Amino acid sequence: MKSFDTIVIGAGSIGMPTALNLALQKQSVLVLDIEHGPGQQNNKKAIGGVRATHSDFGKIQTCLRSIEIMRTWHEVFGDDIGWMSNGYSFPAYEEQDEKKLKDLMQIQHSFGLNIKWLNPDEYNEIVPGISLDGLRGSTYSPEDGSCSPLLQASSYFFQCRKAGVEFHFNETVTGFELSESRIDKVITNKSTYSAGTIINTAGNHAREIGQLLNIDIPVFPDNHEAGITEPVARFFGPMVIDMRKRPGSANFYFYQNIEGQVVFCITPDPPILGIDNRSTSEFLPLCSKRMLEVYPRLRYLKVRRVWRGQYPMTPDGFPIVGKCPQIPNLINAVGMCGQGFMLGPGLGELIFRIYANTLSESDLRVLQSFDPYRDFSGMEAFK
Ligand SMILES: Cc1cc2nc3c(=O)[nH]c(=O)nc-3n(C[C@H](O)[C@H](O)[C@H](O)COP(=O)(O)OP(=O)(O)OC[C@H]3O[C@@H](n4cnc5c(N)ncnc54)[C@H](O)[C@@H]3O)c2cc1C
Repeated sequence: MKSFDTIVIGAGSIGMPTALNLALQKQSVLVLDIEHGPGQQNNKKAIGGVRATHSDFGKIQTCLRSIEIMRTWHEVFGDDIGWMSNGYSFPAYEEQDEKKLKDLMQIQHSFGLNIKWLNPDEYNEIVPGISLDGLRGSTYSPEDGSCSPLLQASSYFFQCRKAGVEFHFNETVTGFELSESRIDKVITNKSTYSAGTIINTAGNHAREIGQLLNIDIPVFPDNHEAGITEPVARFFGPMVIDMRKRPGSANFYFYQNIEGQVVFCITPDPPILGIDNRSTSEFLPLCSKRMLEVYPRLRYLKVRRVWRGQYPMTPDGFPIVGKCPQIPNLINAVGMCGQGFMLGPGLGELIFRIYANTLSESDLRVLQSFDPYRDFSGMEAFK
């Protein structure tokens, strides 16, 4: 039976940054994944949006660090992951949305975030041709950005390999053996391993991993669809998020990636719970109609591909990250909701500090937001 310092369950948005940080600190790491390669579940379904402009300290701090890591990735690791500081914007077409955004900006300013309010003409300069009909203005946070999930996952994978991480693909964790409440053995469909620490980053399947250990981890995947167009010359800057609800959908968002393709996504309303990766015929007509209404300039773009994935949701929209008191050598880092791609790099470092018992005061404050034992009755403003 092979033995490791750490076994990470899942080679996704959280598992790979975690594995890299452990291996760079000379820990022996095994990453197990059901799929045939890295990032094959929700990691590659993300559209690549990365923002620090959240409503709470935990997500803000973690994503500020993620942005720093992605922005400097090329310098540090030599790989191009398609980072672009193109910013985020939330245009407001309704009075209550303007108020909500302006109230939130006060909180964001108190955390030192660079976010401002643009009037409609100013917004039209960075998103030329946006519908001005009823537009009241927009937030703009120029330091937020985007990055290619495909390039990033591939770079994390090769950097992990270089740092000595062992990956076993097509291998599913199916059980555990415990000894005096610690996990003694990790059992898969192919083999059995032992490790000092087990880190659950199983995304959609986090709850099933918990069930194998008799603990309840409230993660419930819900379905979201996305699409990407052909590439064209750059014609607008930031991610555009329309917060309005319409029959069949809540918010929707789109941006032009570094290659010039417009990537877009919509939030179904009511949510579609479960895991179903089949694209639907409803998504494209629904989403494109809403996109053309706010941004008619998109009308001649050809859509190349659509896909469907899940947000691994928690009841309150915050992740679940921390040690498990009942099983002292287990760390859970799951329930990333719609933000696992942007949280991943910063969380990978934080998880290492949980593992190494080197948490700072600021880390402890971050972890309060992600506390696995909170009562889950709150709700994040922009989950
Ligand atoms: C359409 C869409 C758009 C999105 N856009 C964005 C965005 O712009 N920005 C953003 O930040 N987020 C976005 N997200 C959300 C983001 O994709 C997820 O939050 C994130 O990928 C979750 O990361 P994770 O590591 O928890 O899960 P994953 O990346 O899915 O990784 C979990 C891994 O665990 C493996 N696994 C599970 N169970 C087992 C087991 N028993 N044994 C072995 N391996 C196992 C899986 O195979 C998988 O590879 C989007 C999601 C969707 C669907």
